[in-house]
Amino acid sequence: MKILVVNAGSSSLKYQLIDMETEKVLAKGGCERIGIPGSLLKAKGNGKEKLYEQDMPNHKVAIELVLHALHDDEIGVIKSMDEIGAVGHRMVASGEYFKKTTLVTPEVMKVLEEKTFELAPLHNPAAATGVRACMEVMPKTPMALVFDTSFHATMPEKAYLYGIDYDDYKKYGVRKYGFHGTSHKFVSSEAAKYLGKKPSELKIVTCHLGNGSSISAVDGGKCVDTSMGFTPLAGILMGTRSGDIDASAVEFLARKKGLSHADVITYLNKKCGVAGISGVSSDFRDLIAGAEKGNERCKLALDMFAYQTKKYVGSYAAAMGGLDCIVFTAGIGENTPTVRAGVCEGLEFLGVKLDKNANAGKNDGSIREISAKDSKVKVLVIPTNEELVIARETAEVL
Ligand code: ADP
Repeated sequence: MKILVVNAGSSSLKYQLIDMETEKVLAKGGCERIGIPGSLLKAKGNGKEKLYEQDMPNHKVAIELVLHALHDDEIGVIKSMDEIGAVGHRMVASGEYFKKTTLVTPEVMKVLEEKTFELAPLHNPAAATGVRACMEVMPKTPMALVFDTSFHATMPEKAYLYGIDYDDYKKYGVRKYGFHGTSHKFVSSEAAKYLGKKPSELKIVTCHLGNGSSISAVDGGKCVDTSMGFTPLAGILMGTRSGDIDASAVEFLARKKGLSHADVITYLNKKCGVAGISGVSSDFRDLIAGAEKGNERCKLALDMFAYQTKKYVGSYAAAMGGLDCIVFTAGIGENTPTVRAGVCEGLEFLGVKLDKNANAGKNDGSIREISAKDSKVKVLVIPTNEELVIARETAEVL
């Protein structure tokens, strides 16, 4: 069976067509500037690339163009739409309404719209637009919603609750949900396979370090804690997000800067993190270049990022009562040896020992073991593959 994975944003739509027998990507691409003049689709298939510069006033037109590209004479990989067995849609927030991957029905869409949009106003409405567009264009094809939050549904209450009035938690659903679940799930199960162990035998800390970053404690194959919270703003500082901050400091900042509630949250999401600390960039390549030239604030941003990540590794080892493996993944986790070294330095007391040469090695897209042979805790770099998890979950729920 072939599964189309769709990740729709407010003005973008990324896709991959995956053959589930081989788990190979047959075609992929992305529509940009949907609803904005100058829309385009960059599509790959058959080992070739093609650029479609075509007006896409809405997501329905975008998905029609994607299907056209999948059938294209040059880059097409299918002959008929019937070859697409299902569509898996990436969804960000589920609230407490969807604990696992869910097949799309009109009732499910109603709950999604009525209950989850306010939990992720930037992401869920846009992704739902993508679902509706696919439903219109491919009415007979089954569709599944795969949530970033599902893998974290196994967290115990003591881990996901905030110290607020319990009745308010019940009434408003204010609690930690966590994000990047498909990535944490993928890399933790790949780590178990690589180590030749059952997931049930391992205590793993997975560090998804990208523009958005989160860290999870995976005990026996199940997530027991994670660093992001009610929204993706929580946890360690990120590219432009502040990460955890005292709620009273937020109110103080808003007052001093004359910002509304909404504006101060936008400020914490967009103007802070390593970009705010360094005053240079949110991109770690720029920060590393800056630090090498002696820029103290770039160095400080890198130090803070590694220090905060390290604290999560330590606290999650404590939460799980042990640690067998640390996994680094995503843009920074896969490509930045200095960050990995900074995280692992000082964790020798837990049995973490890096192999400097292995850590300095280039990302070649494969799983790399970067701990020393005699390290009690294995340290792995594992390229993430969120699309494959979405496709697997979709196939499973069918
Ligand atoms: P997201 O999916 O959250 O947008 P990614 O996982 O793609 O983010 O990570 C993006 C970040 O990864 C960039 O901001 C950059 O800092 C870092 N990154 C990507 N490639 C490299 C590289 N080759 N070297 C260092 N950092 C990199």
